[in-house]
Amino acid sequence: MTLEVHVLGTSSARPAQGRSVSGSIIETPEGMFVVDCGEGFQNRLVKHRSQMKNFGGRRLKMSKLSAILLTHGHLDHTWGVLPWMQTMALDGRKDKLWVIGPTTSEVIDALLGGDVEPEVTQSDLVIQYDMWMDLGATTEELGYEVQWVLGDGERWVNMNDGSQISLPQPMKKVKISAHSTQHTVPSCAWRISLEGRKGKFDRASSKNLPDEIKATLAAGKDVEYGGKSLKAIDFRTDSVPGKSVIISGDTAEQAIDSNCDLLIHEATFLQAHVDIANEHLHSTAAGAARTAIECDAKHLALTHYSGRLDSHDDSLSEARDIHSSVVALSDGDRLVLNDDLSLTHLIKSEEGWSQQI
Ligand SMILES: [Zn+2]
Repeated sequence: MTLEVHVLGTSSARPAQGRSVSGSIIETPEGMFVVDCGEGFQNRLVKHRSQMKNFGGRRLKMSKLSAILLTHGHLDHTWGVLPWMQTMALDGRKDKLWVIGPTTSEVIDALLGGDVEPEVTQSDLVIQYDMWMDLGATTEELGYEVQWVLGDGERWVNMNDGSQISLPQPMKKVKISAHSTQHTVPSCAWRISLEGRKGKFDRASSKNLPDEIKATLAAGKDVEYGGKSLKAIDFRTDSVPGKSVIISGDTAEQAIDSNCDLLIHEATFLQAHVDIANEHLHSTAAGAARTAIECDAKHLALTHYSGRLDSHDDSLSEARDIHSSVVALSDGDRLVLNDDLSLTHLIKSEEGWSQQI
């Protein structure tokens, strides 16, 4: 029931300081999402998968991927989508794939027929959608069903037939939602949440008891039996709380209108460069920490560093001055949100992963 994030790129705008541009896998018990998919994503994925096999003790099956969720249309977050989709076609993928991302309300009006000349920013996902289709990203060409969906946060359009739909839920027990963020193009944060599980009556530990005693315990009532007092709670498996992660994409410092257990947030700059952060609608590490507090996030993971930062040490200490549970991500790291809602940070090294104490 854990939720695991595989971080495949922590650089902003361009590869720098040994970091690659954005792209993360969110692994749930029901399947995987990829949030953003920048240039060279599949190179990193190939390497990461072989390291998971060699050192992580398991395979990451791409057939488990159900959706690519895009936070915005800047190419360092999207350029890897089409080549990777073509690789999945070569690998014989048959399962449906959702590709979901934000656009403007004007574009949604136009798509739904109300406006013939919407204003479109240069890297709007609707432009990229048209290009991808021209370049062969159709269900027909790829050999597996692709469902493209664009939305403005309120309204979502199925690009395959132009109909208005509600935000798709590609999995049954894992819910996704989009939360508007503030950047130079339409952008959103993605929240992915797992349902909790109630404790169940444990038949094995009660198997030697008479049926009426079992029934009483199963109904949640304590009972006397054989001179002992039996507590109903001792005959239940532990319940597992729900858990949630939000991944921000690029954004100026602003509140995200939802809470979460783990917030993965951009920290392009340090507070010393807050003026540049504000100008380009990015966040500082301190700003990410303030947003984590607003979201009631138990844990904050910093990512998306400017090329001017050769280490994330200062980002980490800046955020830790504000929030009590912060990690700074590097390419290849893994984060595990455990059933007790503690966070395990697995740090990438040449010989696999080591756990940060
Ligand atoms: Zn970015």
